[in-house]
Amino acid sequence: MNQTKYIFVTGGVTSSLGKGIIAASLAKLLQARGYRATIQKFDPYINVDPGTLNPYEHGECYVTDDGAETDLDLGHYERFLNVTTSQANNVTTGRVYLSVIEKERRGEFLGKTVQVVPHITNEIKERMQLLGNTGDYDIVITEIGGTVGDIESLPYIESVRQLIYDLGENNGIVIHLTLVPYLAAAGELKTKPTQHSVKTLMESGIKADILVCRTEHELSSDLRQKLAQFCNVKREAVIQSIDASTIYDVPNLMLEEGLDRVALKKLDLPEKNTPDLSQWNEFLYRLKNPKHTVNIGLVGKYIELQDSYKSILEAFIHAGSANETKVNVISVHSEYIDKDNAADKLSGLDGILVAPGFGGRGIEGKIETVRYARENNVPFLGICLGMQMAVIEYARNVLGWKEANSTEMNEHTPYPVINIMEEQKNVTDMGGTMRLGAWKCQLDAGTLASSIYGGQSEISERHRHRYEFNGAYLGELQKAGLKPSGVNPDTGLVEVIELDTHPFFIGVQYHPEYKSTVANPHPLFVSFVKAAVQKKNK
Ligand code: GLN
Repeated sequence: MNQTKYIFVTGGVTSSLGKGIIAASLAKLLQARGYRATIQKFDPYINVDPGTLNPYEHGECYVTDDGAETDLDLGHYERFLNVTTSQANNVTTGRVYLSVIEKERRGEFLGKTVQVVPHITNEIKERMQLLGNTGDYDIVITEIGGTVGDIESLPYIESVRQLIYDLGENNGIVIHLTLVPYLAAAGELKTKPTQHSVKTLMESGIKADILVCRTEHELSSDLRQKLAQFCNVKREAVIQSIDASTIYDVPNLMLEEGLDRVALKKLDLPEKNTPDLSQWNEFLYRLKNPKHTVNIGLVGKYIELQDSYKSILEAFIHAGSANETKVNVISVHSEYIDKDNAADKLSGLDGILVAPGFGGRGIEGKIETVRYARENNVPFLGICLGMQMAVIEYARNVLGWKEANSTEMNEHTPYPVINIMEEQKNVTDMGGTMRLGAWKCQLDAGTLASSIYGGQSEISERHRHRYEFNGAYLGELQKAGLKPSGVNPDTGLVEVIELDTHPFFIGVQYHPEYKSTVANPHPLFVSFVKAAVQKKNK
């Protein structure tokens, strides 16, 4: 078996430079050259996983097939590479400490003092090599969250130093992503912050092999030379990453800059073929040359932060390209929608998506939104909480059960049309205890759901929720016209609902957005955008 090669991606100067996009773009190019590459992310915070984090903190929590609640960068990896990730692809400080402390309790350290070095660093190193040791990958890219110089990143940086030392020459390299700011007053790009952050890395014993420089303006040849000399990297290893109109341009930009070739050279690996990006470029062409435009309302309560609905926004980009349609996603705050202003706020939309979410804030606005979409024949997609709201809306306004609700919002509702699953009732821990990950769903032939999925009778989609459609009310809701078109074959739980009386009205208990990729745009989003185009052109 060939030695697995390791690429570590660190960040300097500021956060939010897009390490995830650079890592995903590089992996894409390596994959397109015929290498088996994967990406993993190490996050320095102490939460065991991002599942318990409010979306305002780090954006959306991304869920994998195996039910791991992970950093949203894993979503970028899947969307770019079209391969699935798992729990092994995302590790946090909390998880590392939890595992070391559990080992200590089991007596595995044989009476030794347990310390950051070597116990925490050994645990990190072991986890860094987990995917590499499976033999499934030629190259493992490891993204280190945070910015070098942060107190909490230190054990990771030390682990990278040790691992590169252990792996030996040409088997592990460091790409440092940094910012080259433009000072408008001076009319100049500045290299000093980069010099300082490379120096900070050096203080921890790590020499950057490649610099990827985020910039708003082209780096001149002189400036590249200066960065190379002062940061002690080869001239060809100074890579410009200029602001792009879409993240999906970044693989091409990195190809032009030669990031993949420099990395392969440093790892002593052959270039193999030139990357075949024809399918990718076809996607980009359709994205940039749309024939139609639609306005889709995204109704949710975390709209102040774009990253809260990352996968949904990306799924619209994939579906837009598939339909040669520019999808303007218009964020609408559910907290400020009520019966009186719903028409004002929502008219002019060609489609309405009611977003996932937790807790009571903004749910009445979501219910009014569903009513507006249902009564006005606006294409509607409800995801998770959005589907639950659609069930509540139907119960309240069609069956007249005015107090129908989810027991998440009102424990004493006389009509708990959405309630907690039996097995969740006694769960008191919040972390990792929901219905998570891939579950099967059987679709009824002849339904909208079945036609969206191309006639497939069984699908698998990812979940992240505690509450469910309450089967006790299924009969009456069904009689009133709410159709359960998808159910879990093992538990009988309702997964998909739809309305025959409406041109496109569908609610799904799962999260289709997690599985949409450039290579495989999700059929639900593709059909939803198509329905919006049809509505607009009517
Ligand atoms: N809060 C709801 C539940 O737990 C929906 C969750 C979601 O939208 N992801 O069931």
